[in-house]
Amino acid sequence: MPARRTLRHRAISCYAAFMTERLYYTDAYLRAFDARVVDRAADDHALYLDRTAFYPTSGGQLFDTGTLAGIAVIDVVDEGERIAHVLAAPAPRDLQVVSGIVDWSRRFDHMQQHTGQHLLSAIFADRFKLNTVSVHFGAESSTLDLDEEFVSPKTLLAAEDLVNLAIAEPREVSVYFESAATATGLRKAAPREGELRIVDIASLDKSACGGTHVRTTAEIGTLLIRGTEKVRKTTRVEFVCGLRAVRAARADHELITALAQSLAVAPAELVAKTMAQGDDLRTAQSARKEASTALDAYRARERFDASVPDASGRRRVVERRPGGTPDALNELRSLAHALVALGDALFIGTLASPPTIVLASSEGGIDAGVVLKKVLTDHGGRGGGNARIAQGTVPSTEALDAAISALA
Ligand SMILES: [Zn+2]
Repeated sequence: MPARRTLRHRAISCYAAFMTERLYYTDAYLRAFDARVVDRAADDHALYLDRTAFYPTSGGQLFDTGTLAGIAVIDVVDEGERIAHVLAAPAPRDLQVVSGIVDWSRRFDHMQQHTGQHLLSAIFADRFKLNTVSVHFGAESSTLDLDEEFVSPKTLLAAEDLVNLAIAEPREVSVYFESAATATGLRKAAPREGELRIVDIASLDKSACGGTHVRTTAEIGTLLIRGTEKVRKTTRVEFVCGLRAVRAARADHELITALAQSLAVAPAELVAKTMAQGDDLRTAQSARKEASTALDAYRARERFDASVPDASGRRRVVERRPGGTPDALNELRSLAHALVALGDALFIGTLASPPTIVLASSEGGIDAGVVLKKVLTDHGGRGGGNARIAQGTVPSTEALDAAISALA
C-alpha cells in the first residue's frame, strides 16, 4: 500500500468549512461525474472538489485512479472532512468545473475483493465461530486475520466452498444508513455513534463499512483461499476474488505444466516423480562418496609409491590443486588422510583459490597443527588443527608459495 502522502497544501489551507460529498457512498457504480473545484494545493498538484466518485485509501481499501479534467489521478487521500485528489500534472489555474472518470477495472476489482472479504468473514464467523480481527487489501492479494492460532485445512476448504455457494446463489448486497443507536444484528459492535453506513449481505451479514461493494454476491465472481500464516495469536488467511482468482489458478497451472514438462511426466505424477528423484539423488550421493573414498585410496597409494623416502625413511608429497569448488577442501583433506595412513609421510596440499594449505602427518611424525600454525602466522595467514591434520588460509598466492617453501 502506498504511503499516505503529506500534501504541501495543508500549510496554506485556511478553511475546511466544506465537506467533500462522497458519491461512492450511495452509488458505488458511478464511474463518471462532474464537480466544482473548491480548493487546490499550492503547487496545483492536488484538487479538492465539492463532490467525488473517487474512493480514497481508507478502511484497508486502496484508492481509485482515473482522470480529472483529463489529468491522471495518482492518489486519493482521505483528510477527514475533505478528499484530496493528487494529480500527475498541475491542474490549470482557471479550472472551476471538472469531469472525473474513475478507472473502472481497478475499482471493480477492489469492490470484488472487498465484498469477498465481507462474505468470507461472515462464513467464518457463522459456521466456524472464527472472528475476523483485521483485514488488508493488497495489490496482488488480500488477507484477513482470524482470532485463532490454528485453523485446520478442512475448515478452510469448507469455508471456501460455502463462500462460493453463496456467490452462486447469489445473495443481494445492499447499502443503507442507520443510526448506531437503533442498528441491530451488526457482526461487530458499531465503531462509533451517529449514523452508520451498513453493508448487508441478505440473511448473512450486516457490517458497518465505508468501502465500496458489489450489489450482489454473484459479482464477486469466485473466491480462492491461497494460504494461511500464523501471525502472533491469529491466523492470517490470504485470498483472491474475481479475475485475480482466475489469474492465480492460471499461474499455478502454468507452473505445474512447466514443472511436469521439465520432468517429462504428467502433472498428476509430479509428486511421485520428485520423491523418486529425491531417493535417486540420495543413492547417487552415497555411491559417489564411496567411489570418491576408493579413488582417494588409489591416488594416495600412487603418490606414496612415487615419492622417495628421505634418510629417515619419511616421504614427502606435495599436491597442488586449483580449488574454487565447494568440495575442493574436503577432497584435499580426504586425500591427506588416506596418504598419511599408508606409512611415514608428510602431506602438503594446496588450493590456489582461496589460497589454502592442508598439512598432514602420519602417526609418530611432526605435529601438523603446531608446525602449520607457525608457518601461517609468519605469512599473514590463519588456521589450525590437530597433530595429524591442520589447515589454514593465507592472503595471496605469493604468501602461499612462500609458506610451502617454508614447510619444505
Ligand atoms: Zn466493506
